[in-house]
Amino acid sequence: MHIIVCIKQVPDSAQIRVHPVTNTIMRQGVPTIINPYDLFALEEALRLRDEHGGEVTCVTMGPPMADNALRKCLTYGADRAVLLTDRFFAGSDTLATSYALALLIKKVAENWGEPDLIFCGKQTIDGDTAQVGPGIAKRLKLLQLTYVAKIEEFDLEKREITIHRRAEGGIQVLKTKLPCLVTMLEGTNEMRRGTMGDALRAARSEIITWNAAAAGITELALCGLKGSPTIVKKVYAPSPRAEKAYQIEVEDKSVDQICEALIGEVTKRQPGLEKDLVKTSSDY
Ligand SMILES: Cc1cc2nc3c(=O)[nH]c(=O)nc-3n(C[C@H](O)[C@H](O)[C@H](O)COP(=O)(O)OP(=O)(O)OC[C@H]3O[C@@H](n4cnc5c(N)ncnc54)[C@H](O)[C@@H]3O)c2cc1C
Repeated sequence: MHIIVCIKQVPDSAQIRVHPVTNTIMRQGVPTIINPYDLFALEEALRLRDEHGGEVTCVTMGPPMADNALRKCLTYGADRAVLLTDRFFAGSDTLATSYALALLIKKVAENWGEPDLIFCGKQTIDGDTAQVGPGIAKRLKLLQLTYVAKIEEFDLEKREITIHRRAEGGIQVLKTKLPCLVTMLEGTNEMRRGTMGDALRAARSEIITWNAAAAGITELALCGLKGSPTIVKKVYAPSPRAEKAYQIEVEDKSVDQICEALIGEVTKRQPGLEKDLVKTSSDY
């Protein structure tokens, strides 16, 4: 079995600043970490490999320093790490990122076998769009399972996977065929520490590093800033809310009384609401 995990090195979001003139994220001097959602994806990939055999390849597109993040993945127990780095990829939005990653995955497949599963995090903590995973799946014509909270069953012989997907208002249980792309939610597992053997192997391992040409990416107009239709027009901090949270006291702590007090408070603050609700319910 071959599992590919897409990981992104991101600035520690607690320390991000935005350039006041260009409105771009200022990454210089900001410590970087592996996108936390990607660690949940990596742990799930390693768990499946440990249970079913095979190999886990971690891939990233980023600047040369992203090899730190990949080496960290090796210390957790990934079998191989591939970095796609080239000045042509600078300024990529999600369209250009998913294009480059899809071609990178094809190249990895040519070298080490077609993937049975591709994992991504649900989203990153710097871009936050949650578009790259679905973008890769679409470009590779793969089935996709997004917002996955749990892998319920994985049957390599039948080539089936059953997962729990967090949806609005509940959990969907979905089954599909391999190969497919999975985007993992937070809190789905606990990242392992990695063994001493993995740490030693990681320290000695080469991070396979490809530029656009080595990865077989020739349509450079679809990469980086050129291939990115997204325009950041303005970045600003929302103005703080005028109202502050406050506590209301209820003498009788029964659920009925608490609800009544809350509803009373809401209708006191929005006098028209009760009338609107009565009208809406009488319309049915
Ligand atoms: C408003 C806005 C402004 C931006 N400004 C800038 C900027 O000034 N400079 C800049 O460099 N970027 C900027 N970006 C970010 C850029 O668009 C993203 O870095 C990139 O397109 C990936 O999108 P994302 O981070 O939203 O990934 P998501 O779609 O949220 O990521 C989902 C998953 O895809 C995978 N993934 C994503 N990116 C990679 C990758 N590179 N390699 C491997 N796996 C990956 C990971 O598994 C991740 O968990 C901006 C984004 C937005 C929305």
